[in-house]
Amino acid sequence: MTLGPILLALATPSILISGGSVLDGSGHKAVREDVRVQGDRIVEVGRLSRRPNETVIDARGEVVCPGFIDAHSHADGEILTKSDASVVVRQGITTSVVGQDGSSHFPIREWIAKLNATPHTLNLASFVGHGTARSQILGKNANRPATPEEIHKMAALVDSEMRAGLQGLSSGLEYDPGYYSATEELIELAKAASKHHGIYISHVRDEENKAIQSFTELIRIAREAHLPAQISHIKLASKPVWGLADKVLGMMRSARASGLDITADVYPYTYWQSTITVLIPTRDWSDRKAWAKGLSEVGGPTHVLLTTYSPDKSWQGKTLADISKLTSKDPVTVIQEIVSKTHGAGAKGSESVVVTAMTEPDVTKFIRDPHIMFCTDGGLTPSHPRAAGSFPRVLAEYVRSRHVLPLPEAIRKMTSLPAHRFRLDHRGAIRKGYFADVVVLNPLTVQDEASLKQPTLPPKGIDYVLINGQVVVTRRGVTPARPGRFLTRR
Ligand SMILES: [Zn+2]
Repeated sequence: MTLGPILLALATPSILISGGSVLDGSGHKAVREDVRVQGDRIVEVGRLSRRPNETVIDARGEVVCPGFIDAHSHADGEILTKSDASVVVRQGITTSVVGQDGSSHFPIREWIAKLNATPHTLNLASFVGHGTARSQILGKNANRPATPEEIHKMAALVDSEMRAGLQGLSSGLEYDPGYYSATEELIELAKAASKHHGIYISHVRDEENKAIQSFTELIRIAREAHLPAQISHIKLASKPVWGLADKVLGMMRSARASGLDITADVYPYTYWQSTITVLIPTRDWSDRKAWAKGLSEVGGPTHVLLTTYSPDKSWQGKTLADISKLTSKDPVTVIQEIVSKTHGAGAKGSESVVVTAMTEPDVTKFIRDPHIMFCTDGGLTPSHPRAAGSFPRVLAEYVRSRHVLPLPEAIRKMTSLPAHRFRLDHRGAIRKGYFADVVVLNPLTVQDEASLKQPTLPPKGIDYVLINGQVVVTRRGVTPARPGRFLTRR
């Protein structure tokens, strides 16, 4: 061996994370160890003594674990302008998996080049969106079935985007234009992702009354296109399907027993955020009966909170019940007014709602399941607290307070489970030679603080976050370091 590499190693500054309990991401119990980081890697794990001039992070009394991987993120919306991704990294997330719900940047290579030219904190990995492929090939009027020729062209587009190293195909079948696609179309496109060892990930067609049929469709796509599949932000979001978590987990288990690879991700809240139009499965917005039914199935107008409404900002922060009282109009009339000003012909307004439509026992069962990882489903300017609070909330509420799952298992589901799922090379573990994406947290104080009133409030107890060997978060907040990278599939 020549002296060159040794001198280089001595010259590169290192960081010693000293005295902590290491949870390595495997699910095994904590071991009292020190972790040395040099360059972008973990170079030593064990009982280590401090080198001269080495930066030391005192982790006594704390847990040292791999950085969290957010399985379903919308951080790609604003990462180029909000490069600190503060709401994300402050909760310990070091990699966000984007291009979700059928929507990805196109062409992805151009976006990756822009991202690489913009220093940012966070690692990102992306899917290619089915809706994006549809809009590219079907053009302006993509809200219709596709012809066989168009499906062929979309599959070629998916193939070409996958060659940039993406994680697979994503769909958002409750949204335009994914809503208008047949299962056979999705199977053909999933085959194009399968060729590159990608997976299929989906915001399924209906998370409400037809949730079971929707999960069945996803399992069929996995079977016929020969690829692993993941249910995005799994939920049972209407009265007729409340309490069916065991049935859904059983379906996933028997699919796995038959040789398929089926997983899911979940966020730890009983309320979702989306557009008000998903309250009804059809697109007939004049159908008062359908609105009344949809509304009653999520628990009525008190369960629907309008969080964004550009045509009349005074309605923001009010429930449909409040607005109905205020305007002396019945709730369905209020919904139809909102929809006509935001989704009607020529409408320019925007809206979003938070709807309490899931039950705690279902959410708890999903959080406990060993094949279900975690997500925020959030962007960088959120109005739902999940974007800033999901991972600390699992640790505070479901691990420390309610003992739904042990801490090493929760950390495994936040780190090595998604790292394997998304084929992220040398990520998701505290191990020599792995990339130094590391979180130092206090298991006794970690707590989500974000709420509907203050959705961006950072959590407590996430004391240090390192990404690619650089400290991006300390107890004082986000540092100026911008070490984030675009990660390709292994
Ligand atoms: Zn979604």
